[in-house]
Amino acid sequence: MPGIVIVGAQWGDEGKGKLTDLLAERADVVVRFQGGNNAGHTIVRDGEEFKFHLIPSGILYPGKTCVVGNGVVIDPAIFIGELDGLRRRGIDPSGLRISANAHLIMPYHVMLDTAGEAKLGKLEIGTTKRGIGPCYADKAARLGIRVQDLLDAKILRKKIMAALEPKQQMLRPFLRDPKLDLHAMTEEYLRYGHRLEPFIADTARLCWDALDAGRTVIFEGAQGTLLDLDHGTYPFVTSSNPIAGAACVGAGVGPADIDEVWGVAKAYTTRVGAGPFPTELDDQLGAHIRERGGERGTTTGRDRRTGWLDLVALRYAARLNRLSALAITKLDVLSGIDPLRVAVRYRSSEGARLDELPYHQSVLHAAEAEYEELPGFEDEIGACRSEAELPTEARDYLDFVSEHAGVAIRLVGVGPGREQVIWMGEAERHLRAA
Ligand code: GDP
Repeated sequence: MPGIVIVGAQWGDEGKGKLTDLLAERADVVVRFQGGNNAGHTIVRDGEEFKFHLIPSGILYPGKTCVVGNGVVIDPAIFIGELDGLRRRGIDPSGLRISANAHLIMPYHVMLDTAGEAKLGKLEIGTTKRGIGPCYADKAARLGIRVQDLLDAKILRKKIMAALEPKQQMLRPFLRDPKLDLHAMTEEYLRYGHRLEPFIADTARLCWDALDAGRTVIFEGAQGTLLDLDHGTYPFVTSSNPIAGAACVGAGVGPADIDEVWGVAKAYTTRVGAGPFPTELDDQLGAHIRERGGERGTTTGRDRRTGWLDLVALRYAARLNRLSALAITKLDVLSGIDPLRVAVRYRSSEGARLDELPYHQSVLHAAEAEYEELPGFEDEIGACRSEAELPTEARDYLDFVSEHAGVAIRLVGVGPGREQVIWMGEAERHLRAA
């Protein structure tokens, strides 16, 4: 079988971890293709909760190959922490592979991220301050340090030295003594290199070999489409490309290797950090959804902003990623809310009807969502395991979403547990046959 990409179809935190976990069971290789430890997946397995920031969630299955692709930026201390955490819980990490071409987050990246946000003040983007943006910036500026550099002490020292000088200058307005010690930093990163060495590989080749042999490879995206550096609500975006097209670049495969693209969306919308959010519910109901949905970041612990499902944004995601399937998560969170509203279009501040996400940020900032009302459902649905067991109103809600997004819904989440899902229509048979 094929290359399957999983992407967030909203502003991240859609529950991609659970879909990846479910599809990973039938896959041979799981690859992360972008982002860094600003992402967080939570997987509940047999009542036990696992949180991952860097390691692909497929690692919970023995014998799977889990790849951190070249498009990911790696904080080695965090990575090693996750590795040790897995070992402590009896999980064998020997299937892990890290791309030799992936870039490393350095201590000055974290310092710059914090300083940059402080400087922006009220204009801050709401980054996770993990150094991810500055690390991608260095990658583009060709000043980055890559995983493979850890294996050559001389090169590593030289590259850190070249990077340090401009960083000292950039940090000086914020910190009197930025404490960037070349020797200490080189030693620290060489130690990380020793720990990472057994996992470093030519991961693009590894993906190619698997696909060429007809094995299933899952490409796991972090964040979501509306946070895409090119296509999201810039500048309130992440510093990489979470859309499906980026799977090819971030893993090192060709577009023809991708056979399916799954988009994951919540039955409502959330976003973390600043930026436009036309369906935001800044009221009691928004707080209720936040509470019931546990909408607090895995990585940052920050409260997420909540709102109604935005079909304009979802259609945009369906198009940009050319989604072949949708997974709708957290439908259970909406039970007891009546009526339910979904945004079907926006209205600009000048009264124009907007069926598509406007390309101009100022228009989007001022746009107001226009809603359709649908009847809500009273019953708890956490125990439903088939479409037929769902209340009629819940099914109607899903039909409405699927029709307006123009994509078939193939999986529905009805609770955080791994088994709390409903495979829709042909989806399960299709996957089992694969
Ligand atoms: P990601 O950032 O997109 O990977 O999101 P996660 O996979 O970390 O999921 C976010 C949270 O939603 C986790 O705490 C999951 O356990 C939870 N979750 C996922 N699917 C469902 C669902 O269908 N219902 C409920 N109530 N929680 C879910």
